[in-house]
Amino acid sequence: MTQFNDLNLDKKVLKAVSEAGYETPTPIQAGAIPPALEGRDVLGIAQTGTGKTASFTLPMISMLHRGRARARMPRSLVLCPTRELAAQVAENFDTYAKYSKLTKALLIGGVSFKEQDALIDRGVDVLIATPGRLLDHFERGKLLLTGVQIMVVDEADRMLDMGFIPDIERIFGLTPFTRQTLFFSATMAPEIERITNTFLSAPARIEVARAATTGENIRQGVVHFKPSRRDRADKEKRALLRAMIDGEGESCTNAIIFCNRKIDVDIVAKSLIKHGYNAAPIHGDLDQSQRMKTLDGFREGNVHFLCASDVAARGLDIPAVSHVFNYDVPSHAEDYVHRIGRTGRAGRKGAAVMICSPRDQKYFEAVESLVQMTIPVMENPLGTATEAEVTSPQPEKAPEAKPKRSRSRKKAPEETATAKPAEETATSDAAVPEKKAEPAERKNRGRGRQDNNRDRVVGMGDDAPAFIRLSFSERRSS
Ligand code: AMP
Repeated sequence: MTQFNDLNLDKKVLKAVSEAGYETPTPIQAGAIPPALEGRDVLGIAQTGTGKTASFTLPMISMLHRGRARARMPRSLVLCPTRELAAQVAENFDTYAKYSKLTKALLIGGVSFKEQDALIDRGVDVLIATPGRLLDHFERGKLLLTGVQIMVVDEADRMLDMGFIPDIERIFGLTPFTRQTLFFSATMAPEIERITNTFLSAPARIEVARAATTGENIRQGVVHFKPSRRDRADKEKRALLRAMIDGEGESCTNAIIFCNRKIDVDIVAKSLIKHGYNAAPIHGDLDQSQRMKTLDGFREGNVHFLCASDVAARGLDIPAVSHVFNYDVPSHAEDYVHRIGRTGRAGRKGAAVMICSPRDQKYFEAVESLVQMTIPVMENPLGTATEAEVTSPQPEKAPEAKPKRSRSRKKAPEETATAKPAEETATSDAAVPEKKAEPAERKNRGRGRQDNNRDRVVGMGDDAPAFIRLSFSERRSS
């Protein structure tokens, strides 16, 4: 088995790696580091969680330790699709470069240009950036890319999804033809293939297995959900999510809840908060400082339920997530693999459970065909909608009566910040109207209290005669 010592890395890098606690290189590291150190282009087909960040940062630091940066001319460039991923790469860089005297700058949106300009003016060895922000700096005449010797493109497939490919092509064109390119993508879509054929020169191609989706450490399941009525679908789906969370019991210590749409990320987070769960949203429309704060809160355990969109969560390294809830079946089957790869990391046990609505069926089939397994069907903890519920709905009954043992009633730090402008929530049955419609007795059930009001007769309150209450109870138990 290859050891770090066999890879020709700089001594200072080896020291930092050993202090990080890494014993042996991961397959992408063992495959990508040697050709990168030889100055070759690398095409790494690997996704997050495989150790790919170190597979490009370690050789970069080793190669850059000789030489000095010139003002406004970075010596290397790492392009990342999201601010979070860029910040994470920067963190990794700090860890591995702690004994190497290299300078870096992080160019991401949400941070003032002035601060970033000052860093670039001094000269940086490593520039880590999102494509848009990098081009903004370039266009303001503050940055020259003609000194870039090494260029990394991380998560190219996500760049494609986000429409960044024209920016990437432009940036390639601004760097010297002689640069070395290290290019990473989880998949090789035809457009990605085209880019690599155009901009990489005889790359060493290293492909590592996709994170195990059938791994024994990740328990998977799906609940097929059929709303009792179309206009109640969203509300019932949120009730089902809460029931599924509760159903996981104490083993659910923290979770990422994935929604396909940003608007649902907000609505689901708000609804969970309203029901006493410690939740916060993360998606691309939130400002950078808020996203960072939420993420830190989640890492530190102050936020238990992170409601996320795929883009915001992609590439985030959150070591111990007990559960992933797929509120929606992802419309790109590949995203299922990324989503569930957030749990069960580093040999820990994890669970990934999903809600599948009738309209998700075709996506669900695509997911099963991609992962080549039948995802076990779980019982709907709310039961299936019956005719009676349609005419006399009590959708949040059974699971709400369960006490929420591990749910912190403490409000999430972002609770006040989650309020979204009216226009963003107006298109669906957002949490606000839900609140208005909810009778007090049902809310009490949601708090895990004994429900003394179950047999109250609507409109009669405590004044209902005993014979009516009796027959009501009998009806319920039959
Ligand atoms: P990445 O795929 O770069 O997001 O890395 C996933 C996680 O693996 C990060 O938490 C790294 O700190 C960790 N990691 C990277 N390389 C190694 C290694 N050789 N041994 C153990 N952990 C590693």
